Amino acid sequence: MRMVILGAGFGGLELTSRLSEELGDAVDVVLIDQSDGFVFGFSKLDVMFGRAPAESVRHRYADLVKPGVRLVQSTVRAIDPVAKVVETDAGRFETDVLVVALGADLDPGATPGLVEAGHEFYTVAGAFALRDVLDSFAGGRVVVGVTSTPFKCPPAPSETALLVHDFLVERGRREQSEIALVMPLPVPIPPSPAASEALLIAFAERGIEWHPGCAVDALDPDRRVAVLSDGTGLPFDLFLGVPVHRAPAVVEEAGLTVDGWIPVDPLTLETAFPGVYAVGDVTSVGTPKAGVFAEGQAAVVADRLIALVRGEDPDSTYDGRGICYLEFGDDEVAKVDVTFRSGEAPHGELLGPSAELAADKAAFGSSRIQRWFGREWSAT
Ligand SMILES: Cc1cc2nc3c(=O)[nH]c(=O)nc-3n(C[C@H](O)[C@H](O)[C@H](O)COP(=O)(O)OP(=O)(O)OC[C@H]3O[C@@H](n4cnc5c(N)ncnc54)[C@H](O)[C@@H]3O)c2cc1C
Repeated sequence: MRMVILGAGFGGLELTSRLSEELGDAVDVVLIDQSDGFVFGFSKLDVMFGRAPAESVRHRYADLVKPGVRLVQSTVRAIDPVAKVVETDAGRFETDVLVVALGADLDPGATPGLVEAGHEFYTVAGAFALRDVLDSFAGGRVVVGVTSTPFKCPPAPSETALLVHDFLVERGRREQSEIALVMPLPVPIPPSPAASEALLIAFAERGIEWHPGCAVDALDPDRRVAVLSDGTGLPFDLFLGVPVHRAPAVVEEAGLTVDGWIPVDPLTLETAFPGVYAVGDVTSVGTPKAGVFAEGQAAVVADRLIALVRGEDPDSTYDGRGICYLEFGDDEVAKVDVTFRSGEAPHGELLGPSAELAADKAAFGSSRIQRWFGREWSAT
């Protein structure tokens, strides 16, 4: 059976690893990605705040050697989900099974003024560039702001506000600074009241202003003011933004999306096109856009494909569960164990924050690099 997997991010890497581990050379898997390597979302924050050097957090695809898997570094230009044919800069691929794991694209240009007057910390380039910007920031008014929903890793803006606080304290610049956090959500983490409460307490203790239920619509570069969706404005010296997210254009052009994202069967991750699956941020499966959910979905698709190859009935289904780590600053991390199941209100338990859970999070990162790339790695 031929399988083509588009995107070697959290979802694509997990899927490929499981297929190779179970089936080895018995399958013909082509994994296509345009980048030269993988970077964890949380590593972006580590580099930005000077906790890890940029070169230590990039995991090169050239190191990915797995039986049955061929990695093609190329850009996907067209997808035909009916014929199951993919056009790339490296040629055309015909397949029996197609898995779309292309994630969410980020569009800083969609928010007027963001590129000219602010910074975004969601792309690898944007987060890495912020390291120097933060180093030379003398203090002042910092606004961390989200421009629209949905956005990846809903805890990340809250984590960023807390880490900005620590960063400024360590450099003796906190007293001459103010920090504000603008989010279009009513509470920091809607599925977990306990985590939201703990974050709101942490913001209050650190003097971080919390602006819920609002998005940043634009930045006014002349006045250096963030224009919020409720019509008010927040002045800033340093703006750290979460840009607009959208499905990659190639996915939309393929006719795979409805209302911007790929609808899938929430249990099997199959799209409306037989033999075409989608996992992770590119879908509208109902979980937040986060790596742990992409990974869980990829695991189910892997189980189902492995069963098909073995001539068995696929019975693995997606349970919507994921464990999210949450940086609280002060070298402490909390953990939210959350389940999103179709037809049920999501619920999430909070553990920590504690130094032990910071070690737990580092072990989570290391275990993925071990499984995906077959080498040791120590996350911060
Ligand atoms: C600051 C930050 C912190 C985060 N922290 C966490 C966290 O602590 N825990 C967590 O679970 N998640 C976290 N996330 C979210 C996480 O990074 C994403 O949700 C996750 O990577 C999604 O996985 P995916 O497989 O769907 O897509 P991705 O991992 O984004 O992979 C998509 C891949 O597709 C490739 N691609 C896209 N278009 C094309 C094309 N046309 N041709 C070829 N290749 C293409 C890309 O190069 C990319 O490698 C964080 C994100 C950010 C920004």
